[in-house]
Amino acid sequence: MSLPDSQDFILDHVAIAVKSIAATKKIYEDLGLVFSPKLEEVKEQKVLTAFAQIDENAHIELLEPTSIESTIHKFIESKGEGIHHLCFKVTDVKTKTLDLMQKGYKFIYPEPRIGAGGCLVNFIHPKSTGGVLIEISQRLEHV
Ligand code: ZN
Repeated sequence: MSLPDSQDFILDHVAIAVKSIAATKKIYEDLGLVFSPKLEEVKEQKVLTAFAQIDENAHIELLEPTSIESTIHKFIESKGEGIHHLCFKVTDVKTKTLDLMQKGYKFIYPEPRIGAGGCLVNFIHPKSTGGVLIEISQRLEHV
């Protein structure tokens, strides 16, 4: 099955909040995924991230808080470990944010910002999406 050329909303990653990347990695490795050996720290979000590719677009992202100030720490405290957000790739995150805001969707940030992997990202508030935190992300060519 192939996607229509016009589709501008492609699954990029499923992010999972974990207490320990080292402890959780093994589960996904047992399932058959391979993690890139390098962990990335996103200082702004106070998290360590580990990526495993699923197909040419999608990957699993494990998020481990590096501080009790991290929103991921707070998430785990209130809901436990588990799926934190879904991320979809779009061609223009700024336009998509404005489009969706005009349709009444609430966003976490008024303006897109730089996230993991140097992508430009924003998050649609779960109150607008039936309880699912949805990230939209644009790969930047010249960062
Ligand atoms: Zn993400």
